[in-house]
Amino acid sequence: MKTINIGILSAMPEEIGSTLDNLENVTLTEYGDLKIYNGKLKIKVLNYDYVYITMAWSGWGKVSAARAITRILAGINKIDLIIFTGVAGAINKSLNQWDIVIANEIIQHDMDARPIFEKFVLPPLKKAKLESNIFFRNWIFSALSEGIKNGNLSRFGRIKKGLIATGDSFISDASVIKRLTNELPNLEAVEMEGGAVAQVAEQEGIPWVIVRVISDGADSNSEIDFDQFLKNYVLSSWNLLECILKDIPVLPIN
Ligand code: SAH
Repeated sequence: MKTINIGILSAMPEEIGSTLDNLENVTLTEYGDLKIYNGKLKIKVLNYDYVYITMAWSGWGKVSAARAITRILAGINKIDLIIFTGVAGAINKSLNQWDIVIANEIIQHDMDARPIFEKFVLPPLKKAKLESNIFFRNWIFSALSEGIKNGNLSRFGRIKKGLIATGDSFISDASVIKRLTNELPNLEAVEMEGGAVAQVAEQEGIPWVIVRVISDGADSNSEIDFDQFLKNYVLSSWNLLECILKDIPVLPIN
């Protein structure tokens, strides 16, 4: 029997949408205010007999995200792959609401341990940018591109891979964008959790992928855009996950 255990984390319930309704034999474990759901995917998938999902929404920010992913990884199912999914602010001006950005790399834009380490370097890993699992990110990119092409993801826009930055602030200010783009010229989008999840996953040796959908332009309209977008996004977030999960590939043996 081929099985895979996937950890799915988002910051808000809207970003997971109706995923829970698509699981069976669901169990709930509570740790204080954090709820972690375990269940088996109802839909049939190509490469596995069973896909087990462990999922949660963490709340905003790096500490909440790190805590939730650590709890997921410490659960009874040994997690094979972590997918973080949610919304993000666009830094690259050619991105629009509903465009998808898959992180090929992620950086914590508020990490600064100078002069001991260079700016952005994560002390325990001694590097600034963390690279997502290349096999899964390329695969997710093709699955979502196909979904957009064949109309299964009709609400979504374009898709690209690129650099995402994480930090503990909601960015809604042109001067902050300017500083970030000066320091990180290839930056596509900003959010508040991915870098924390990636760091924990990296330190624990678990493959991870971060998939973000643009909700706002990280500028002075971002709060209004964000709130409106989220109301629509809750109806579509499962479509994105279903498209990823239904053909989830078998990891190549190294
Ligand atoms: N404007 C909201 C705050 C939303 S927090 C309010 O005050 O009610 C933003 C959440 O969405 C985080 O989980 C983060 O990962 C993501 N996000 C979306 N747009 C963002 C932006 N412009 N800057 C930082 N995070 C953003």
